[in-house]
Amino acid sequence: MLQEISNLLIKSKQLNVWVYRLDLKHGQVGGNKYFKLKYNIEEAKKRNKTKLLTFGGAFSNHIFAMASVGKLYDFETIGVIRGEETLPLNHVLQHAKNCGMHLEYVNRTQYRDKYNLRFTQELKEKFGDFYLIPEGGSNQLALKGCAEIRNEINVEWDFICTPCGTGGTLTGLTLSLEEHQKVLGFAVLKGANFLNDDVNSLFVEYQKNNPNSKLENLNFEIFLDYHFGGYAKKKPELEKFIQTFQNDYQILIEWVYSGKMFYGLFDLIENDYFPVGSKIVALHTGGVYSFSS
Ligand SMILES: *Cc1c(COP(=O)(O)O)cnc(C)c1O
Repeated sequence: MLQEISNLLIKSKQLNVWVYRLDLKHGQVGGNKYFKLKYNIEEAKKRNKTKLLTFGGAFSNHIFAMASVGKLYDFETIGVIRGEETLPLNHVLQHAKNCGMHLEYVNRTQYRDKYNLRFTQELKEKFGDFYLIPEGGSNQLALKGCAEIRNEINVEWDFICTPCGTGGTLTGLTLSLEEHQKVLGFAVLKGANFLNDDVNSLFVEYQKNNPNSKLENLNFEIFLDYHFGGYAKKKPELEKFIQTFQNDYQILIEWVYSGKMFYGLFDLIENDYFPVGSKIVALHTGGVYSFSS
């Protein structure tokens, strides 16, 4: 669903801004995670895998979505969680458990080395064969899924905005651009200088897998200064912005992802980032569902 929003500022700069409501779609898989996971689910089924294993922090929407996927599509799921178990479980982990996900807590050092072969081997010994999906779900199949988001947006646009955690969604969107279009990413982590490198690695791998693709129009920009102190951190200024936004447009947003993106978008508008007449789509990538379940 596409919802146009406007106010005096937007009008005075002669812009159009639409919110694409991914947050209202795909139920408990939700938001951008549906697109990141859809081809992974297909691939796991194709390879006759019965178990999915992934990684995440205790508040990860990706863990939430993966647990839902397990229940909906009949996989056993294992979530390798950073840190110790804290009881009572928070809403994400409680949902995961209710869906039947096995929660495997590991300490921060182990978590940092989560992709090394020895750890993978240990996990295989413990859980048997599984299909591995990386933290945040950002692999090549996720790019393919995220590139499809654009097909759902049936207005002409010049800019598309998305919050960035791992950058997978931004990368997939960038692969789908037409010549005059650009993706704007808003990093929700502090000091996310690694994002540009990570995104570039995803492009390099994509090019390897798709030697005929040209990758000429990689038109994206990531803003690093709207993190408000770091992942899931907030400040009064952000909270006030979210309140006003929700009152003005009746669109629920939160402070982990969507709130930071919209704050950044309005700030760019105010500072004349966009040429007069620009048409802007902001992806509401979801995340709100996990606060209300
Ligand atoms: C996971 C998530 C993101 C981040 O997506 P990346 O592809 O990791 O950048 C953005 N918004 C919401 C609501 C999310 O749950």
